[in-house]
Amino acid sequence: MPSHVHVIGAGLAGLSAAVALTQAGRTVTVVEAGPAPGGRCRSYFDRELGLRIDNGNHLLLSGNRATFAYLDAVGARDTLDVAPEPLFPFIDRSNGLRWTLHPNRGRLPWWVLSRKRRAPGTHVADHLALLRLRRMHNDATVAASVPHDVFYRRLIEPLAVAALNTPPEVGLVRLLTSVMRETLFLGGAACIPAVPHIGLSESLIDPAVAWLRERGSEVILGRRVTSLRHSGNRIIGLDTTEGPMRVDAVALAAPPWVAADLWPGLRCPMEFQAILNIHFRVHAERGPVGFVGVVGGTAEWVFVKPGHVSVTISAANRMVDDSAEAIAKAVWPDVHATLGLNGAMPPWRVVKERRATFAATAEQEKLRPGARTEVANLALAGDWTATGLPATIEGAIRSGRTAAEVLLAA
Ligand SMILES: Cc1cc2nc3c(=O)[nH]c(=O)nc-3n(C[C@H](O)[C@H](O)[C@H](O)COP(=O)(O)OP(=O)(O)OC[C@H]3O[C@@H](n4cnc5c(N)ncnc54)[C@H](O)[C@@H]3O)c2cc1C
Repeated sequence: MPSHVHVIGAGLAGLSAAVALTQAGRTVTVVEAGPAPGGRCRSYFDRELGLRIDNGNHLLLSGNRATFAYLDAVGARDTLDVAPEPLFPFIDRSNGLRWTLHPNRGRLPWWVLSRKRRAPGTHVADHLALLRLRRMHNDATVAASVPHDVFYRRLIEPLAVAALNTPPEVGLVRLLTSVMRETLFLGGAACIPAVPHIGLSESLIDPAVAWLRERGSEVILGRRVTSLRHSGNRIIGLDTTEGPMRVDAVALAAPPWVAADLWPGLRCPMEFQAILNIHFRVHAERGPVGFVGVVGGTAEWVFVKPGHVSVTISAANRMVDDSAEAIAKAVWPDVHATLGLNGAMPPWRVVKERRATFAATAEQEKLRPGARTEVANLALAGDWTATGLPATIEGAIRSGRTAAEVLLAA
């Protein structure tokens, strides 16, 4: 069993692997190419806005078991703002209608009987028909699996776009139901939304890095791994921008395009979808949960953050090449109406994550590899590996734990 493990990448998958390995008594060295840890889930100071912002809004649900276990391990659960109830406020921009989805906490979903808790214009039968999706294991898309009515427009489409970051016309319904199986289908107690109180890094990244360092593990920043050296059926070293490193075992937790470069012949997802986040420096009332879903607008989710408001548009390949100004101007009216703000468009920043996640399609799903490789001391981690979930924080954290288990068992 290796006593020292090198982890390539300090995103959530790499940090989760490092935490699990450290808990198992191994010494860990995390090697991260970027100047800061966090990968696709991080916060930074934006000089133009004069604000610390997240690269993109991330929403957690209480059913994300691995994520909460990771936060507990590094002592960071209390850095989240957890909503008092499973509440999802929405606005329909086509007619200004507002509602709040409010599943009851228990497993028996009596909330679907209450008009006040459902989206307007939806029926009990629509919700019950959803249960049929639980048994779907084929390559059907979301759009082909649910009738295109009010229920689809006001519930399924927003959930699918957010969970899969893929247009429902090509997004796999079984990946959406894998999320629902761990949240909505378990009852409202598994759907309570949580967001970082300050920022993504303060909740999900910095506490893990501090926890690792306190236990003698290293997190090296600004050092890119450029190749893996092997001898026979073992990885024996890493080449990096700062020179070579000898290794006992490696968890490769870089994004798929990097992993495929470092490990030639690796089959992995190579189609991606963008996410746009538009940050406006304006004060707004937070409301009961700190965000509002938008149907029928350009914005999809409006989050109220400390000192700013931040909009998410997922499955955004269709818009990613538009100018930043055109994007900001297109979403500002949605923010204005959703939060009841007055005045002209405030200072803004558009963050385009072009390869935010792999596209959750049948073709890409087939390309997701498991954690185990043909080399005993090399394991793979990342939201793009075969976690059974779409590319999410929960998937990334689970993948890191799985990679750690593979190496510990080697
Ligand atoms: C805008 C946006 C919004 C999102 N919203 C949500 C959400 O609401 N809920 C949710 O659950 N998920 C959300 N996600 C998805 C979530 O952020 C990702 O699934 C997760 O962060 C992926 O983590 P990872 O560790 O697999 O990959 P990454 O975060 O990509 O980590 C890989 C790391 O490897 C490093 N690296 C790359 N090459 C090298 C190299 N050669 N040597 C060393 N290091 C290297 C990178 O710099 C990076 O730090 C969102 C993603 C984005 C982009």
